[in-house]
Amino acid sequence: MPAEDSFLEDFKRVILDTASRCRNCNYCFTVCPVFKSARGFESQTPSGMLQSINYALRWNMFEREQGETLRNLLYLCTTCNSCTLLCKSKSTGVPVSDAIQAGRKILRERMIGPLPQQRKPIKNILLYGNPYGEKPENRLDWSLGLEVKHLPQEKAAILLYIGCTTAYEPNLRKLGRNLVKLLQMINADFGVLDGEVCCGEPARRMGDEGLFQELMGRNTDQFKSTGVKTILTVSPHCFHTFNNEYETMKGEFEIQHYTQFLTKMLKKRKLSFKKKYSQVVTYHDPCYLGKHNQVYDSPRELLEMIPGIKMVEMRMTKADSLCCGGGGGRMFAEVEEEEKLSEIRVRQAVEVGADVISTACPWCHTMLQNGVEQLQLTDRVKVMDIAELFCEGDPSISGI
Ligand code: SF4
Ligand code: SF4
Repeated sequence: MPAEDSFLEDFKRVILDTASRCRNCNYCFTVCPVFKSARGFESQTPSGMLQSINYALRWNMFEREQGETLRNLLYLCTTCNSCTLLCKSKSTGVPVSDAIQAGRKILRERMIGPLPQQRKPIKNILLYGNPYGEKPENRLDWSLGLEVKHLPQEKAAILLYIGCTTAYEPNLRKLGRNLVKLLQMINADFGVLDGEVCCGEPARRMGDEGLFQELMGRNTDQFKSTGVKTILTVSPHCFHTFNNEYETMKGEFEIQHYTQFLTKMLKKRKLSFKKKYSQVVTYHDPCYLGKHNQVYDSPRELLEMIPGIKMVEMRMTKADSLCCGGGGGRMFAEVEEEEKLSEIRVRQAVEVGADVISTACPWCHTMLQNGVEQLQLTDRVKVMDIAELFCEGDPSISGI
């Protein structure tokens, strides 16, 4: 059987098996951000989306209008993982989110998916190695003027994989520069990759399995050519993908999100700050760091090292955290929502008196910033990445 047909059979099996084991208890409705932000129809729930693709497969309902309705439903999912966690703890433990994503791959194969606005980012990844259509030769411009090793020509112990959004998004380039500052402060032996390309996560979430497989192969070869043993990521999406989805490099590298690495390294050192940062700060857990990988403590520990800040928690945190609405390819498409998830999240931060919403994901940063602007709250609350907040205090280390 050709590889593509075998993939499709696997996706079909995941859906049919998951749907047959779902007992329609509806517990997962309560945690799904889509159910919260959309119109609250039963089809806009985890098990509703699952059963929609299940019956489409059983009854071969992919004709034009039916196919589009199904697509508009399945691509609402932000792939936040809340339903899968809830089902595991309270019900039959079916991988709902995986089945919804398998459905997208089938829709993509049938040329029904992704959503019209998502076609361009996919084409851009294919042509330019990033979803924004930016020139590959400009990918390292964020680091101009910094003394950073370029791999694989130069050698280092650690590869800092910067990712597409931090590399190209003008508001986020300083995140890359702040990270370099912090890594240099602890004397880490690191470098960036010449010829870095997208990790493939957005392509996979939008259903393009072929493109994901191609990028996985290309990245694996590039990473191996550097000789590094550790890869640090800025985005939780790259972190999750390299760690859990790159079968081609299982066990070959230690993959860490930058918050994990810095927390571990800074705990061992005597840290001092020139300035206090006297603000009330809350932390928004990115789904791909928290709910997918249970990294809840490192970002908070890092924040608590900054003198002056007062930490407050929003009412939905850690495993119960509310998605910002940017995952699963939704960064690239407007979907119909009664209230935007990013705006609900910003309101939750304001409710607990936060001056700053900190996060550790470039997409959460962008979504929440949009939420603040839409709500006209730019004078009331700021969105900042943890690395940026850390650098505000002008830190230095003074020995072990
Ligand atoms: S919690 Fe699990 S078993 Fe219950 S409806 Fe949701 S997916 Fe199905
Ligand atoms: S992964 Fe998140 S958004 Fe998608 S169906 Fe499950 S709970 Fe809803």
